[in-house]
Amino acid sequence: MTTLVLATANPHKSEEIRQVLANFDVELLPRPLNVPDVAETEDSLEGNALLKAKALALATGTPAIADDTGLFIDVLEGAPGVRSARYAGDEATFEENVDRVLYELDHLGPGDRSARFRTVIALAFPDGTSWWVDGSLEGTILAARRGEHGFGYDPIFAPLGAQGRSLAELSAEEKNALSHRGNALRAFAERLANS
Ligand code: IMP
Repeated sequence: MTTLVLATANPHKSEEIRQVLANFDVELLPRPLNVPDVAETEDSLEGNALLKAKALALATGTPAIADDTGLFIDVLEGAPGVRSARYAGDEATFEENVDRVLYELDHLGPGDRSARFRTVIALAFPDGTSWWVDGSLEGTILAARRGEHGFGYDPIFAPLGAQGRSLAELSAEEKNALSHRGNALRAFAERLANS
């Protein structure tokens, strides 16, 4: 059994991580409340994931797992990308970020709405060593929100292979089976098992 401490305090993400890693020999500890948040100051997902994992491993003395995700929209040259959490402003809500994407793509037809989610998962050890893996999910941006599940940009992202449904119209199990975070977590578990 490997014990890891989880950097994210986002309950949606923690639950997805727990569900996918439930099949593997990993014990996940929650982020201790007394460890301060780390600012995401890097300009890449891997940079930010490593920053968060390394800070937590150092603070706790336990190997730490951190993830960073971005939505990359082709017609916006990859925006919101690494700024996905702050697309509509530093304190923006999921609602406001989704509204901004819908506004930016308002004039476009269905052919111009290709996008992908990418997740990087980093593991850092208290001795300073680290590694990371990634996973992605191709799809298109819908013209309006659909569905009640999930979080973030889920209501406006229709993944390839889901018959036009948005991620927010999928059950948690369906989302995990095909999602960027699910794919990254499966790569993570495989790498962990072989290390
Ligand atoms: P984070 O930096 O990994 O927290 O992700 C940045 C932003 O991407 C979040 O604030 C969410 O808006 C969005 N995001 C991350 N993961 C997902 C997901 O699985 N579905 C939809 N949006 C997501």
